[in-house]
Parts: sequence; C-alpha cells; structure tokens
Amino acid sequence: MKKKITIAVDGYSSCGKSTLARDLAKELGYDYIDSGAMYRAVTLFLMRRNIDEGERKEIPALMDQINIDFRWNTEHHRNEIFLNGECVEDRIREMDVSGQVSWVSAIQEVRKKMVDMQRSFAEDKDVVMDGRDIGTVVFPDAELKIFVTASIDVRAKRRHDELASKELKVTFKEVKKNLADRDRIDSTRAISPLRKAADAVEIDNSTMTREEQLAVAMNLAEKRIKIS
Ligand code: C5P
Repeated sequence: MKKKITIAVDGYSSCGKSTLARDLAKELGYDYIDSGAMYRAVTLFLMRRNIDEGERKEIPALMDQINIDFRWNTEHHRNEIFLNGECVEDRIREMDVSGQVSWVSAIQEVRKKMVDMQRSFAEDKDVVMDGRDIGTVVFPDAELKIFVTASIDVRAKRRHDELASKELKVTFKEVKKNLADRDRIDSTRAISPLRKAADAVEIDNSTMTREEQLAVAMNLAEKRIKIS
C-alpha cells in the first residue's frame, strides 16, 4: 500500500487554496479540512453574542462553549462545518463574518483551541488542510507544503464572482478592501502570522485554470508519496 502523507496548503485570502486543497483531497482519497472555516465559525459565535474587538478580554472564558465539527453532506458531496450542532457552512462566508474574522484569529486562546482541534482531526486520518499557518505551525513536519499566491485583483474578482453567484450583494471594491485588510492583519499579527514555510513550494495560480493548478500539485504530491 502507498504511504500516505500530510499536505498543508497555505496562502493569502481567496487565492484558491481551498479549491486546490479540496481537489487534491478528492483525487488522493484524503480528508479535506478547511481551517479558515473554523476561525469563521468562532467569529460567528462571538458576533451572535455581540462581542466585538473592545470586549476581547471576555473571549477566553467563552471558548469552552464553542463546539465545532465537520460532517459529510451526502447531497452536496462536501464536508460542512457545524457550530454547536448547527450547519453554518454558508453563513460563515458572508461579508460581515469576513470583516471580523481576522481580529478574532489573532487571539491566542482562539488559536490554541483551533490548532489542538486541527491536529486531533488529523490524528487518525490522512488530510489535506488549508489555512494560514498549517505548514508553519499546525503541521511543521507535513511531507508536502504548498503556498498558493495570486495577484490581489485576480483574488478579488474570484471572491466577488463567488459571492455574486450566491446573490450576496457586495461591490468589487468592498471585496478587494476586505482581502487587503485581512492579508495585512493575518501577516502582521504576533502569533502565527501568515508566511510561507521555508520548505513550502509556491504556486502562483494567477493565470492557471483549476485543472492546471491541480495537475501541478498532484505532481508534487505523487513525488512526495513515492519518497516517503
Ligand atoms: O481561509 P479563509 O479566508 O476562510 O480564512 C478566514 C480567516 O481566518 C483568515 O483571514 C485568517 O484571519 C483566519 N485564519 C487563520 N489561520 C488559519 C486559517 C484562517 O488565522 N489557519
């Protein structure tokens, strides 16, 4: 039997890393875990309790009330995220959550709980996980680390098209500003800032199709599977 490997996919907001990670997992028969969805679910939990940045001191005490799990939806053929038993897969993609998620993700107690959960999800499974700190912090020993990039205009257009297809009304300018803000906060925060791991392979997919980026990543994965 082929040896399985852990695959970490990191990158800036809306660079296509979730699409790539999901496609890779499908192709290899691995589990896909969207770590960004977990930070988004925590953010939604706090928004519903009207906790904003000024009340950040209250957050550590609330962490025990947050339960997150992923469940396979047989109809949509996708893993969906549940917050305290409620499916929030679509709700967490909306702009109000995107606008708050980066300050929530910079809180140490939030990151600790999410990283512990991410490692436990992968304990007895072979996973492709995408996020900001997967190759640097969550799985520093991952056999394959990919860092995905694309220009900000390409990323903003993709996210804007995605939101428009869900009939969520938001302008291109708002989307681009949100991406730029998150990129800045995510890469300058004190704990686990977004950065490319020294041993990560960079894929700039600005001019690649979905199939082309998958082919590049599959080539890398197959090489790693052979040598590990
Ligand atoms: O991947 P996505 O854009 O859904 O992530 C939402 C936010 O969650 C990011 O902007 C970042 O603030 C946070 N995040 C993180 N660490 C991860 C994944 C996401 O801090 N591993």
